[in-house]
Amino acid sequence: MVALKNITRALCTTPACLEIADYYVKNLAPNYKDIDPCTNFEEMVCGGWRDRYDIPSDQTSNDAISLIEQKVDDELRIVLEGQYPVGSKHSHFSPRNLHARDLSVDQQNFETMKAVYNSCMDEDSIKKLGISPIVDLIGELRKTFGRDDWSAPILFAQRLGATSLTSVYVTNDFDKPDLQVVVAEPTVGLGLQMPDFYVDTTMLTNDYVPVLANILRAVHPNDSSATNFTEQARRLVQFETNLAALLPPDDFDFVEALTRVPTAKIDALVPGLGVSKIIAALAPPGIPSVEVLVYAPFLANLTKVIDAAPRSTVELLFVWRTILASRAYVVADEIFDPLLKLRRKLYGDNSVRPPTPRWKTCVGFVGDSVGWILSRFFIENTFSARDREISNQIVADVREVYIQKFKTVPWMDESTRTKAIEKIDLLEQKIGYPTENPNITDPETIRNLYGGLTVTSSYFRNAMSATNKSIIDNFARLGKATDRKGWGISFPTIVNAFYKRQTNEIDFPAGILQAPVFGGDYPSAVNYGAFGAVAGHEASHGFDINGGKFDGTGRLVNWWSDEVTKEYKKREQCFISQFNNITVSANDKKNVTQRKYKLDGRKTLGENEADSAGIFAAFDSWKLRRKLNGDKTELALPGLEDWTDEQLFFLAYGNFWCGKYSDDAMQIRLKQDVHAPNAARVQGTTANSRAFKEAFGCKVKEPTCELW
Ligand SMILES: [Zn+2]
Repeated sequence: MVALKNITRALCTTPACLEIADYYVKNLAPNYKDIDPCTNFEEMVCGGWRDRYDIPSDQTSNDAISLIEQKVDDELRIVLEGQYPVGSKHSHFSPRNLHARDLSVDQQNFETMKAVYNSCMDEDSIKKLGISPIVDLIGELRKTFGRDDWSAPILFAQRLGATSLTSVYVTNDFDKPDLQVVVAEPTVGLGLQMPDFYVDTTMLTNDYVPVLANILRAVHPNDSSATNFTEQARRLVQFETNLAALLPPDDFDFVEALTRVPTAKIDALVPGLGVSKIIAALAPPGIPSVEVLVYAPFLANLTKVIDAAPRSTVELLFVWRTILASRAYVVADEIFDPLLKLRRKLYGDNSVRPPTPRWKTCVGFVGDSVGWILSRFFIENTFSARDREISNQIVADVREVYIQKFKTVPWMDESTRTKAIEKIDLLEQKIGYPTENPNITDPETIRNLYGGLTVTSSYFRNAMSATNKSIIDNFARLGKATDRKGWGISFPTIVNAFYKRQTNEIDFPAGILQAPVFGGDYPSAVNYGAFGAVAGHEASHGFDINGGKFDGTGRLVNWWSDEVTKEYKKREQCFISQFNNITVSANDKKNVTQRKYKLDGRKTLGENEADSAGIFAAFDSWKLRRKLNGDKTELALPGLEDWTDEQLFFLAYGNFWCGKYSDDAMQIRLKQDVHAPNAARVQGTTANSRAFKEAFGCKVKEPTCELW
């Protein structure tokens, strides 16, 4: 390998440092010293990882992020199956530091959360009920049929969290981002999920119809006519096929094509839906006339499709949506497994998997139902106030680097430059956990968040209450100013990171800020190399082709000059051909390389750009922070003393993406995902980093592609 310095340095020997050092060393390829980092860095730093980690039997791929997800799930299980942490004194809001009144509310919140979990874990009672809760629900649904329009069943489905003929919800107004607006989105909640799957008529007839007929038969226990259900399923599949044909293509950004209409006008456009009644039923009292953003071509054609179908078929669609929305809250694998298997097969996943362990399902259920209570107890064990401070600093540094960059990009005109800097200034950063909107360090606030929730020992009823509450909460936003500080549902337990263009915000929940991505004790090279790159990636989305459509306030407006757009697109060509020329390979369980695949540079373009921008921003912000701290020598990690700080930075970066895919998973990833497979992300990004090439003494220092 090239240019690893040999110097003696002080070591970081805290438990967190020892753990991460051990992880990195073991992840190195056994022959890593013979591998040239300039051409095969990913294999060098991840070759050992693939030897160590198999693909778990309930998954088709595995990577460093999946390992964090598993760890977070385990942590949540410990919280949910343990006692109230009365002795914990980890932060100012820990039980030991709470006043008596807060302590008692905190304990009650904990008990509410446990009750939700226990209702889900009580598999015996759930099994005893069988599918009767769904049968009852369909009975309730049928009472909404037979009116002038479909608003009553749509509303019924909506309260279950189901999409039926359109999805109606409240979000930030694209034109007036300080206000909230209703959107009627072109989604219909297809049974097979993707519109593309409705083209293969043989599959629909031979596979989908029988699966659907069996489910319909199961939820209508008093009607045993087999032919009848097959015929019903056939009509329903045809109706879904007609609906699927109306939907815009997957990659179509319909947001730009939305038009604004008063509710009364929407009723004229699609009289059959009764949108004004749906909004009136869900909106808080006293809201004056509401405007709705619609994708008009979809709604106009929707009327034709509904009118052309027999009434009983449209009713059957609502029955089907009700089943789909509630099937997770009964235990009846023999009824629903064939549908899940068919869906997986259509995506190209032919794996045979064991059922998800019950506790995992229930951890997810608690997160969906009382996510803020769960988050409060999750951070008690996993994310300190100090961690929050350090990660906030990293994101602030990344922003500073972008400002410096935008000040100097030669091809940016002054007006676009000013707006870019303004957009960075306005960027909201939400890191770890919220202390406002909502303040989850205050037990009373958390209790009030769940005021409208009814928790009993019934899993099914708890689920219905939670979904209904989430719809009410969403519509409660109507008529209020946009809450830019609000966390929405970015719960700290989520292992992911986001950029949201409508609020110009970046979210890094505590779930992603875990070892090996982040640690309060780690050398700064590790935190900036791993987490800093994620922060740089997300922030860059505000400045890519999509980010160019929304300004710093979240308003839908093209703030790029034509010249900037032209220059940007010119640079994109380089990324497209660079990634078109990268091949990736799947691995089986024994880490033997399987088939090789070519990448689609155009499909993955935006994410590849964000990766390259992210690594640049992370590296420069790390350098900036070190300079501000007086360029002190960093502690080295045991076993990695030979690696320079710069090399350690990239080692941390590369490790973030270590992973392996089964053949099926690789094909699905390439077909469905706008993110390139992990190995390609390391290969392409390091080739685009001058700092990387300097750190490893590569012959060519020039980046292959560069945006700014
Ligand atoms: Zn991204």
